[in-house]
Amino acid sequence: MFEDTHDHHVLLTPGPTPIHPRAQQALMRGMLGHMDPEVFALNREIQADLRVMYGTEPEAFTALLAGTGSLGMEAGFANLVEKGDEILVCANGSFGRRMAEMAARYGAHVRLVTAPLGEAIKPEDVAAHLDGVAMVAVVHGETSTGVLNPVPEIARLVRGSGVLLTVDAVTTAGMEPFHMQDWGVDYAYTGAQKCLSAPPGLAPIAISERAFARYAARRTPTPLWYCDFEGLRDYWVEHTYHHTIPVNLHYAFHAALQAALEEGLDARKLRVQQLGQVITRTLAPLGFSHYVRRPEDRLPTVLALRLPTGMDDSAVRLALRAREISVTGGLGPTAGVIWRLGLMGEAARPAPYRALMVALQDLLG
Ligand code: PLP
Repeated sequence: MFEDTHDHHVLLTPGPTPIHPRAQQALMRGMLGHMDPEVFALNREIQADLRVMYGTEPEAFTALLAGTGSLGMEAGFANLVEKGDEILVCANGSFGRRMAEMAARYGAHVRLVTAPLGEAIKPEDVAAHLDGVAMVAVVHGETSTGVLNPVPEIARLVRGSGVLLTVDAVTTAGMEPFHMQDWGVDYAYTGAQKCLSAPPGLAPIAISERAFARYAARRTPTPLWYCDFEGLRDYWVEHTYHHTIPVNLHYAFHAALQAALEEGLDARKLRVQQLGQVITRTLAPLGFSHYVRRPEDRLPTVLALRLPTGMDDSAVRLALRAREISVTGGLGPTAGVIWRLGLMGEAARPAPYRALMVALQDLLG
């Protein structure tokens, strides 16, 4: 039976993150209907706050999809790709490969730009493959390896070429400034349960005017009815019924996003950077070291640490779990080689990491 309240669980995974107390509180509010004027007012505030979080044009369309980050990813390909389009996907980890698979399922001819595991995509490799491409897709922070891809540099190459740019901002937006308009990003998405510490189940998205123009010029209807851009606009702008939104998740998301913007995106970035440095310095004597070699390629929100020689990865993580501390290992080829410590949202606080340090000193020291 699932009885424990888990109120004291130390959740240090790269998502989901601990729910922000204000979001937790907001979940308790009474239910309203999805067509209620107060819910439309709440949605308008969410849209305005998302424009700030993503750094969009003043009138850009922002919304929440009723699903996780992967639905945000899928909605972009479903609306912006047509059969036979050439799509260039930067794939230097699991989530880049997920993008490539989705683009292919919507009929794209996928060109891949890759990099060795633990290394960032080189902008010049993107530049070399841009000819004839309809869209470039890149994961900003590759959670599977803790690598930060150079989105501003890639965007500079794509800008002005007529090629659309889709960015997976799952581990970055909300934890650091994101400059959709200045960089020239056309479609961006994240998951509520990552940098914002809201409950899982919502994907905040932002769509540029250029992306809407591409959508409007489609030869065929968007195959994914649920996330059709026009259907989303009908509900979020025209206030006509499309599907039933999860109102209680919107309450919580609104509270979490407001808390993030009140703290400030620059302040959040600094909080993560400083905590990351302390963790790395403290764990170094136990034998942990950076997995990503070049400092500029390191994703601040997912600290990828190579494990000490001889350490039994699963035994130590089980021992931590027995003490109510969850950490995540590597994925695929990095399983047993690294840990990925989440420094997003409410996970990026000194107290939970102090608990991890104390436990590890005890288990390994
Ligand atoms: N993109 C990245 C970079 C992620 O880290 C994740 C999840 O970890 C996803 C996409 C998929 O998000 P979700 O699991 O919320 O569907």
